[in-house]
Amino acid sequence: MFAHLQPSAADPIMSLMEAYLRDDNPQKVNLGIGLYYDEQGNIPLMQAVRQAEQRLLTQGHPHGYPPIEGSAAFAAQVQRLLLGEEVSACGLATVQTVGGSGALKLAADFLRDYLSREEIWLSDPTWANHGAIFAGAGLQTHSYPYFDDIAGELRFEAMLECFNGLPAGAVVLLHPCCHNPTGTDLTPAQWRTVIEVMQQRRLLPLFDIAYQGFGDGLEQDAYALRAAHRAGLDCLIANSFSKNAALYGLRLGALTLCCGDAQTASNAQGALKTLIRRSYSCPPTHGGRIMETILTDDALRHLWRSELDAMRDRIRQMRLRLASGLEQGGSALDYRRIRDQRGMFSYTGLNPQQLETLRQRYAIYLVAPGRMCLPGLNLNNIDYVADAILAVSRS
Ligand code: PMP
Repeated sequence: MFAHLQPSAADPIMSLMEAYLRDDNPQKVNLGIGLYYDEQGNIPLMQAVRQAEQRLLTQGHPHGYPPIEGSAAFAAQVQRLLLGEEVSACGLATVQTVGGSGALKLAADFLRDYLSREEIWLSDPTWANHGAIFAGAGLQTHSYPYFDDIAGELRFEAMLECFNGLPAGAVVLLHPCCHNPTGTDLTPAQWRTVIEVMQQRRLLPLFDIAYQGFGDGLEQDAYALRAAHRAGLDCLIANSFSKNAALYGLRLGALTLCCGDAQTASNAQGALKTLIRRSYSCPPTHGGRIMETILTDDALRHLWRSELDAMRDRIRQMRLRLASGLEQGGSALDYRRIRDQRGMFSYTGLNPQQLETLRQRYAIYLVAPGRMCLPGLNLNNIDYVADAILAVSRS
């Protein structure tokens, strides 16, 4: 029955991680997969998460089934986080999902089954799994211009031109902050222009926000979402707590639809529940309870925010230090990209040959084509990495 199956193509980011783990070079540095590591090179257990878990353990929760859409209190907190403290739940439908990936998959199923959409436009470049998720759900994927890797700049005009040429109702996936993989974001003024075009052309944005808090802060990073919502634009928002609460393995995210009015939101919520029920029935409970506990308690919420601020600051310091190391060493590489880009990633402009040499000779792992995950840097390895990049970018 199964004998015809062929070996599957491995996921490039996961295989790189496996190659890194197998590497016995004591100086190896992992700048590949999008994970936040602390100064000691560990995935943090945030204090806010630890305290919330202790509280939940003391309370003792039986492991019954949650509602199909997850808890209502969690959904209300997600809406505040995305759309602002004062947001009214009226016109919003939010369901808990299995990570940000689960939110995207649910969005894809919803677009196909309830909105009869057959296509989606993704930024060029984008996170590799976007293509896989939407194509896997039967949508045809197209790309819109986003980043010029030679000039190291956003292709803003080309992007607008593309949006202006799309058919009414076309679905466009946008990264509100910390664009993966380029680390290059739109300014608030550019977002306002994009939102105007979306309204004029009657386009449907799907915002994928997987790094809220890693750009400029929780509020600032939500600028595009809030501006779209204020403008009355119908949209979908997929968010993830994998990175900003370091809950990777607990698989926590949400999908929110901004629908305009309460009746439409209630119908949309029903559609999402139908899709969830027929797929995995209901979400896992533990991650949702942790985040609900944090977000509904002023002290824990404050602690979480300050820990997240410290994570963002550490990445920023690593950016500045690496960029100045490259500048002082006279690197031919455009170090300003590393300095100015935001979030976890930098699109370094290192070519495939240089990436290969970094891996073979120095055991430094980056994702092709030149995406560096900055949190893999720390005070113990940053000078080694700067020297290695200088060496490969000179030759
Ligand atoms: N969107 C983007 C842009 C991402 O980078 C990621 C994670 N790498 C996700 C969504 C999915 O997040 P999760 O791990 O929560 O599924």
